[in-house]
Amino acid sequence: RVKQDGRNAYLFYDDSMLTDTQRALDLDGRLRQAISNNIIEIHYQPIFDLETNQIVAAEALMRWNDDKLGFISPEEFIPLAEKNGLIHKLGEIAITQACHQAARWQSIMPIKISINFSSVQFRYCEKLLAQIQQGLESSGLPANRLDIEVTESLLFNHTQDVITLLNNLRKQGVELTIDDFGTGYSALSYLQKFPFDKLKIDRSFLIDIDQNEPNRELVGAIIAMAKALNIHVVAEGVETRWHTDFLLEKECDYGQGYYFSKPLPADLFEQLLSKARVPQSVA
Ligand code: C2E
Ligand code: MG
Ligand code: MG
Ligand code: MG
Repeated sequence: RVKQDGRNAYLFYDDSMLTDTQRALDLDGRLRQAISNNIIEIHYQPIFDLETNQIVAAEALMRWNDDKLGFISPEEFIPLAEKNGLIHKLGEIAITQACHQAARWQSIMPIKISINFSSVQFRYCEKLLAQIQQGLESSGLPANRLDIEVTESLLFNHTQDVITLLNNLRKQGVELTIDDFGTGYSALSYLQKFPFDKLKIDRSFLIDIDQNEPNRELVGAIIAMAKALNIHVVAEGVETRWHTDFLLEKECDYGQGYYFSKPLPADLFEQLLSKARVPQSVA
């Protein structure tokens, strides 16, 4: 098809572009519905201490299983929600649900809960702080059980408000993690300039690492550098025994991935936690 624009030039577009636009429109409407019908869920993926094999944390991952459209990946709806502004509402849902679940789980095991925040949510730092405060207060979850995951893009183009907020959270005891480390503008200065406790090595580095010598070197170097700066390291996308052995050898602190467990709905995660619970020694 051909479309004429105002300057007498022709712009070509094909059906796939039309379909993309239609899909975005459909998703937009359905996402609003999903939010007001309360069908957005949070699933939980355990994070393990590689040395002790204990669950130390859970990452909260958003799930949208639409009545009409079926399962929609967060890789698709999060970027959309960042554009249409729904991300702020989704953020509130994640904080509320995850803090309440984590607070309940403390009596089974004192795990941390990691919640993802996109850079767009930091455009309104005051609102974001209020949401986090509200999540902690209403659930009773101690601040030092909460871990906030942000990506490097937040740091690349940050405002003073962002620095103030991160410092404020850190002072309250909230942990800060750089997610997807190595995929953005990984300036090493970020690690010193901002009060991060942890970095997560992106899954893409592990995928073919058993056959990829440069990636092995890179992962080893990231872990060594983090150690030198007193920053803990989580590897995401741990899928094989080979991965865990390699990471242990490089003294990576934590691992998360299908080798251990996929993200689970709250009730199944709770079962996993109960089974993994270390029996208290009788004094
Ligand atoms: P992320 O924060 O980097 O989350 C890790 C992703 O890797 C998750 O995908 C998880 O299911 C997947 N994963 C974990 N272990 C493995 C593995 O061993 N193999 C493979 N192939 N994948 C693994 P998911 O749940 O589809 O989430 C995708 C992204 O969507 C997240 O990446 C995060 O950036 C975003 N996201 C998810 N939930 C939220 C949320 O509540 N708020 C915000 N702002 N973003 C979210
Ligand atoms: Mg994450
Ligand atoms: Mg990640
Ligand atoms: Mg990732």
